[in-house]
Formats: sequence, C-alpha cells, structure tokens
Amino acid sequence: MLYSIAVMNTNTPLERLERKITAIKQKLLALEPMHPGSVSRQYQVCGNPACKCMHPKKPRKHGPYRKLSYVYRGKPVCRFVRAACVDAMNERLAAYKKFRSLMDQWIELSIQRGMIEFFAPNTKGTDRKPRQSK
Ligand SMILES: [Zn+2]
Repeated sequence: MLYSIAVMNTNTPLERLERKITAIKQKLLALEPMHPGSVSRQYQVCGNPACKCMHPKKPRKHGPYRKLSYVYRGKPVCRFVRAACVDAMNERLAAYKKFRSLMDQWIELSIQRGMIEFFAPNTKGTDRKPRQSK
C-alpha cells in the first residue's frame, strides 16, 4: 500500500530536480549567440605634439574606444570593438553571463541529484557503507 503510493507520487524531490534540470536545458537551447568577456572604455593619446591629446595643461585624449577583454584557454585577449558593433557585442556578453549562470544552476542541481541517488540514507544498493568486519 505505502509502496504503491510512493511509486505513483510524481512529485518526489528527485523528480522535482529532474524537472528543474530539463527547464535549464531548454533555456540553454534557446540562448542567442554569446561571447565571453567584458567591454571597457579606453582613452588614448596619439603622440602628435600638436594634437589636443598632447596639450600640456588640458589634454583631451581620444576616445572613448570600447575594448573587449576576455581570457581564452588561459590567455588574456583584448580587441577594440567598432562603435557600430558595441550594442550587439553587449548582447552576446549578456548571453554568455546567462549561459554561465545556467551552467552553475545545472551543476548545483546535479550535486543535489547525486545526493539523493547515491548518498541518501534510504536509497537502494548504491549508498551502503562498507561493512566493518570484526
Ligand atoms: Zn591625439
């Protein structure tokens, strides 16, 4: 009797976790193009002594230029982003942040799932502590 109720229950903690993981997978599939990194503003001097950027008292540097920075395979990369592309790049940076957030959620849920499936005290078979021999 108790056993059949447990089998029919479709809202166990494990099933709730599986539904959350499925929802994350669907959100990952729906992600738009992404790019890692962040965009910062950069001001520069050109070196021409007659230019406003070299003015001894009130230098007005060139810019702002938008500089994209990210780390790829352990190496830092910097690229200047054309003004016309800044908005599109910012969208990709936001999509990447969303991707990382979803991955973090998936990992957390996977750990919780593992706790239920492998380490919970009442699961069958896989959770038994090795018996101590006397
Ligand atoms: Zn200049």
